[in-house]
Amino acid sequence: MSGRIYFDHSATTPLDPRVRQAMAPFLDGIFGNPSSQHREGRQAREAIEKARAQVGALIGASPTEIVFTASGTEADNLAILGVVRARGGQGHVITSAIEHPAVLETCRHLEGQGVAVTYLPVDQYGLVNPENVRAAIRPDTCLVSIMAASNLVGTIQPLAEIARITREHGILFHTDAVQALGKIPLDVRKLPVDLISMSAHKLHGPKGIGALYIRRGVELSPVVFGGGQERGLRSATENVAGIVGFGAAAIIAQEELPIEALLLRALRERVLEGVRAALPQAYLFGHPETRLPGHLSLGFAGEESRVGKLLEELDNAGISVSAGSACSAHHAGNPSQALLAMGYNEESARGLLRVTLGRFNTREEVDRFLQVLPGAVDAGNAEDLLQAAGSLQE
Ligand code: PLP
Repeated sequence: MSGRIYFDHSATTPLDPRVRQAMAPFLDGIFGNPSSQHREGRQAREAIEKARAQVGALIGASPTEIVFTASGTEADNLAILGVVRARGGQGHVITSAIEHPAVLETCRHLEGQGVAVTYLPVDQYGLVNPENVRAAIRPDTCLVSIMAASNLVGTIQPLAEIARITREHGILFHTDAVQALGKIPLDVRKLPVDLISMSAHKLHGPKGIGALYIRRGVELSPVVFGGGQERGLRSATENVAGIVGFGAAAIIAQEELPIEALLLRALRERVLEGVRAALPQAYLFGHPETRLPGHLSLGFAGEESRVGKLLEELDNAGISVSAGSACSAHHAGNPSQALLAMGYNEESARGLLRVTLGRFNTREEVDRFLQVLPGAVDAGNAEDLLQAAGSLQE
C-alpha cells in the first residue's frame, strides 16, 4: 500500500485480493440482471444465492434469513424502521447512548413520528448494563437495539445477557454488528438475537454492500419500495459484484477468524505496551479486556486538544489513524457524544486517537508507529509553544 501504514480499519478495510478475484467476473463478463430468466440472469442469481449462504454461514444463519442491503446504515434503518412500521408505526424502542448514527438518527426520526425511545446510559467502558434494559422495558416496547461492539472504543456488549432478557419479555432484539462481524464469533444458533446488521467493507470486502439477518418468523416492513427484490424487503436491482464480494469476505473471515483474532490481539497489545512505555500520559478508552481484537482508543492526558495535530503529524509520516470515528469526522472539534456518555469531560471527549489494526498489518508496522509516535506528540507540543510565543510577541 505505497509504503503507508494503515491503522484505521474501523473506518474501512482494504479489499482482500481474494475478494477482488471473486468479484472480477461479475464486473465484466457476468453482468446479467439476477431477475432475468435467460442464462446471464441465472448466472447472476446463482452467484447471489451462493453469497447469501456464505454470509449466513458466518453467523450460523440459514440463507433465507439474509437480506442484502446497500450498506450497514441501510441494514440498521431496515431493522429499526421495519420493526416499528410492521407494528403500526407505534410503540417504544430501547437503544443506547453510544450507538452509531445509523441507529441513533433512525431512532430520532422515529421520535419525531411519535415513537418513544429510551437511550440507555453506559458505564465508563461503554458497557450497557443488561439490568438497565430490563428496567426500561414497557408494555409497548417492541424493539431493543444495542450494538455488538463500539466503533469508537471497541467495547463488546453483553449480547447474550441482553438477548436472554428480550426473549423472556418476547421483545425483538436487534444488534448492529458492523464492527464485530468477522472479528468475534457471532452465532445466531446460540445467541437469541432477531436482527443483525452487517457491512462488507469492515471485513476486507467491498463498500456499498450490507446485509440484515432477520430471524425466521420476524415480520418487517420494507423501507425501500419497488420491484420486490430481496423478498420485497429491499427493492432494487442487486449489486451482484458487491454481494459476491461480501460472500467471499465472509468465508475468508469464517476460516481465518480464530487465528486472525489472536494475531490482532497480540499486535494490539504490542501497540499498547509500546505507547505506555514511551508516553506515560497515555490512557485507554473502552474496556481493557472485552474489546475488539485489533481496536485501541487512546487518550493523552493534558494533550487532548492536540490530537488533531498528532493525527496530521502521523499522516505526514505515512501513518493513517483516526481521531474519533470516521462518521464523527464531519463534526471535527466537537466532543464525542459517546465519550461524554461514558462520563469523560469535554476535553477528554475531544482527545481520542483511534488505532485499529487489520489483516495485513505487521509487527514491523507497529514498531514503526511506536518509533514515530513520541516525536509526533512532541512536534505537536513544539508547534503549540511556537504559536504561544508568536502570540506573545503580537
Ligand atoms: N454501524 C457501525 C457500528 C459502524 O461502525 C458503521 C460504519 O462505520 C455503520 C454502522 C455504517 O455502515 P456502512 O458504512 O456500511 O453504512
